[in-house]
Amino acid sequence: MAVWNPWHGCHKKSAGCLNCYMFRRDSLYDKNSNIVTKTKEFNLAIKKHKNGSYYIPSGEEVYTCMTSDFFIEEADEWREDIWNIMKTRSDLNFIIITKRIERFEKCIPKDWNDGYENVTIICTCENQQMADERLPIFLNLPIKHREIIHEPMLQKINIEKYIKTKMIKCVTCGGESGNNARECNYDWIINTRNQCLKYNVKFYFKQTGANFIKNGKRYNIPRNKQLIQANKANINLE
Ligand code: SF4
Repeated sequence: MAVWNPWHGCHKKSAGCLNCYMFRRDSLYDKNSNIVTKTKEFNLAIKKHKNGSYYIPSGEEVYTCMTSDFFIEEADEWREDIWNIMKTRSDLNFIIITKRIERFEKCIPKDWNDGYENVTIICTCENQQMADERLPIFLNLPIKHREIIHEPMLQKINIEKYIKTKMIKCVTCGGESGNNARECNYDWIINTRNQCLKYNVKFYFKQTGANFIKNGKRYNIPRNKQLIQANKANINLE
């Protein structure tokens, strides 16, 4: 797995953004996270070693724009270069997680048609309101590989009517990290898992978050244990 951040900076948009990790980290260095800038690694996915091999080896999943939103307005002028890079590196799988799915159609390249084979778009829905606002848009867009993520998951969310379309490949759930993390309840995770089970959709419990409730008991889970604890639950569905 590789991470590629061609630009950095974002604006808080919905409830899930409240404790955004990128804002928290930038504040440690007095950096203004609301200023969106191109980064030094803008060309990372086509960067090569002296021997001619790519920095990012063939076959990798490349999480793209993890310190911004791929579809943010300020990046409109830069995005075409990134689409071209994604075409050049058809041997990589690019993963884009967004809270700005409503901007998607304004941002796709001319030759997108029904989507690039090597690009997966993941729509973030942290609560029911965002699910009902974003998922109808998401399902109507020309995308080859669609996934949903509830992270930070802030409440029980019903997505049955969206996943029963068979257009969603996977649903991921996770809690919130950091000192001010809002709670994530295991019951909500199980509820989403049951929906996926019913419609035969892949399900992944990514991490518990720092403030996790299970069987009515609250657990403060350190960052390095949040993935491990989720994995231990052993509830993923293939
Ligand atoms: S959209 Fe993502 S990167 Fe932007 S503020 Fe919200 S959580 Fe942070």
